[in-house]
Amino acid sequence: MNYTKRDTYAGSISKLTLGKEVVLNGWAHKVRDLGGLCFVDFRDASGIVQVVLNPEKFDNLQEIKTESCLSITGKVVERDDANKNLKIPTGEIEVVASSYQLISSSQPLPFPISDEKEMSRVNEEIRFKYRYLDLRRPVCRNKLAIRASVLKNMRSFFDNRGFLEIETPIITKSTPEGARDYLVPYRLEPGLFYALPQSPQQYKQLLMVAGMERYYQIAKCFRDESQRSDRQPEFTQLDVEMSFVNQEDILQIAEEMTLDVVNKVIDEFKLEKKKVDPFVRLTYDEAIRDYGSDKPDLRFSLKLFDVSESVSNSGFGVFKNCVESGGIVKGIRYPGGASLSKKEIGALEEFCKEFGAKGLAWIAAGPDGAEFAYTSKNGLGLRSPIVKFFSEAELEELISVSGMEKGDLICFIADDRSVVHNVLSRLRNLIGERAGLIDKTELKFCWVLNFPLVEWNADESRWDSTHHPFTMPRVEDLDKLESDPAAVRADCYDIVCNGVEWASGSMRIYNPEVQQRVFSLLGISEDVQKERFGHMIEAFRYGAPPHGGFAPGIDRLLMFLTDDSSIKEVIPFPKIAGGTDPLMSAPSSIDAMQWAEIGLKKI
Ligand code: ASP
Repeated sequence: MNYTKRDTYAGSISKLTLGKEVVLNGWAHKVRDLGGLCFVDFRDASGIVQVVLNPEKFDNLQEIKTESCLSITGKVVERDDANKNLKIPTGEIEVVASSYQLISSSQPLPFPISDEKEMSRVNEEIRFKYRYLDLRRPVCRNKLAIRASVLKNMRSFFDNRGFLEIETPIITKSTPEGARDYLVPYRLEPGLFYALPQSPQQYKQLLMVAGMERYYQIAKCFRDESQRSDRQPEFTQLDVEMSFVNQEDILQIAEEMTLDVVNKVIDEFKLEKKKVDPFVRLTYDEAIRDYGSDKPDLRFSLKLFDVSESVSNSGFGVFKNCVESGGIVKGIRYPGGASLSKKEIGALEEFCKEFGAKGLAWIAAGPDGAEFAYTSKNGLGLRSPIVKFFSEAELEELISVSGMEKGDLICFIADDRSVVHNVLSRLRNLIGERAGLIDKTELKFCWVLNFPLVEWNADESRWDSTHHPFTMPRVEDLDKLESDPAAVRADCYDIVCNGVEWASGSMRIYNPEVQQRVFSLLGISEDVQKERFGHMIEAFRYGAPPHGGFAPGIDRLLMFLTDDSSIKEVIPFPKIAGGTDPLMSAPSSIDAMQWAEIGLKKI
């Protein structure tokens, strides 16, 4: 239909425009019929302004339903003092309509877009089925605006430093990053498949062989793996690769880019976040030792402590036997935890058991007035079923190693090293939340460096890459590649933010023989090496430069910035449970002709 085109954006109207005649195009966000007058909160991409329509002037105002699309002509006037709403930017004025056109009407909505409280209760599947309506909510639009700004700032950071933005293929060959591939049948030769890239890893390395030297891309990656709140089958990475650099050069550029982009976006959108500081650096060993995890949340400083030595000769059999059989005993403080009830401590123990612990031992320092099994030299009253098993000297040592303070609950786990670390790292996060130790306005980025090259996969009795097979082993460890793989360190690194892995990267192998040795260590036979990765080995025979890079997740960064607990909220059209798209109903069946074309049969 013909409609009067806008000359003013709703969000730009202010007292400065008083008396002006404006034409608005947009949607009826909220419609209130107050008998005498009809008020419409009128929304376009820029914001919301109140429009007043007088029923004496218009005879069919009932046709203006919520979310119908309208063109409105009217005059900007100041609201009565009683009607001013200083919480919104346009709250001091309104537009009195002289005419309107219903461009396109809306049928009743599946959910109340303008009511944020109600929206938080709407089932996710419905919301994403009607994502085009969900995205009309100003909060959702704002997230996409933040996303666009992140991408724009990243691009300008790299463009200004001589990087080329280069696209790499989507229909390609498997690039392993540890997940299952999404496969696409090849029509011309049934039985052959393309794979969607788990990352552009191989192409970006080939671009280095091709002499591009500085590459970046906002890249789509596809991984068919079990879903979690911070994972999607299809997600976006900032992918970067550089030649003639060492690890330190890459760390510097990655950190500089993060500070630049994140701090600019925090400013631009006035996000409730503190400015980001330079990254803390931890080695993998330090991260595991102090936090039990290579993804430590550094918004709070609690560290694990090791009491294996202090308890190895104690009368507490559980600890003593554990240490004797090669295990360790470590603990963590729970500030304020001494006031937890028996039932609450029982629930903590259940939590630990869920992650493989056999039990949870604890000592409480308090609360006041309780009956204490031991009072320490510095006056701490200890309560615990296990205090009786320790000598005075041992208890004093536990107090000193743990840094126990009045009101603390000290939690101990005794088990194999990996169980202890896994359980205590999870318990640490729980304590951080429960004890209110986390400042939600902080983004704490840290580097985790010096990962081992490979990890033993006990289920499949083989070595797996800690990152991916293209990671460079430390030159000084190369001679241990076959004899002692677990001892080989790699020049690879992760960026962790608030306890979530945000980026990973590494220096790469560029020597064909080393690449073949690493493939062999990973149990990839020579034939398979040739068939799957022959192009990489061959490329490295043509003067390959030393190179390395990194790739942070865009969606996860958005999640940190917007405080969303699920990655779906910051992706324009996300997949839901099972990796399905409720809007388009994908995946979907194909017709008989398509089956025939791709030469496949359902069995
Ligand atoms: N390709 C890696 C990943 O997707 C990142 C990198 O090593 O650059 O995690």
